Amino acid sequence: MRVKLVAGNWKMNGSLASGQALIKAILPPLAALNRARYAVCPSFPYLAAVGQAVQGSSVALGAQDVCQFDDGAYTGAVSCAMLKDAGCSYVIIGHSERRAVFGESDEVSAQKYAQALKHGLTPILCLGETLAEREAGATETVVARQLDAVVKMSGIAGIEKGVVAYEPVWAIGTGKTATPQQAQEVHAFIRGRVAAADRKVAGALVILYGGSVKAGNASQLFAMPDVDGGLIGGASLVAEEFVAICRAAHEAKETVKA
Ligand code: PEP
Repeated sequence: MRVKLVAGNWKMNGSLASGQALIKAILPPLAALNRARYAVCPSFPYLAAVGQAVQGSSVALGAQDVCQFDDGAYTGAVSCAMLKDAGCSYVIIGHSERRAVFGESDEVSAQKYAQALKHGLTPILCLGETLAEREAGATETVVARQLDAVVKMSGIAGIEKGVVAYEPVWAIGTGKTATPQQAQEVHAFIRGRVAAADRKVAGALVILYGGSVKAGNASQLFAMPDVDGGLIGGASLVAEEFVAICRAAHEAKETVKA
């Protein structure tokens, strides 16, 4: 069975106080939703405090990015060892905002993915096409290229240790969600591509959907056979919304491995 995962990407939002208030509000209801897994990904300065607040709970800690190198002279960067120190078990890799705004290439995302594995962090690898790419019929080409860069560097054995998030760029923060069918098509494509190399790894691979997931559409998305949970941006900042999305994951039927 693939256990569903819901991860909140807080992005560069809020304050120490608002993050702590959010955690205080979500922990009690999530404690009762024990059929799925949960994580929150605050900004670097708040990781340690939020990490302390979630200690002993069912909510894991993740970071939104990491440096591809080990500790050293990399001003402004944060290493995997530092993330581990702060209590992280997950790290988001190759988010479309890192790729588009900060110019992160497939190659650099793949290096970061490999670095996360090397340090025992679970990478959440984001893949997704822009609207122009979708309209040009290039969704599969783009997603395959992004995935293949990671497979080339970390192998299928590396994919086995991570999580993939399909995040169509046109659906991120826009309020435009992919339909459950659109999400399912791409998730099935990703799983199929991994299956071509290793069926067992593909069957166990957790593939999240991200892009304007809300309380109102989470159940339909999570009901798709290849959608194993969500990476949630805006809605993860609102306690009731995030808890409702987590409840949808908890209540969704477990997915049988292919
Ligand atoms: C994200 O940034 O990973 C994301 C999915 O954002 P949103 O839910 O706000 O679309």
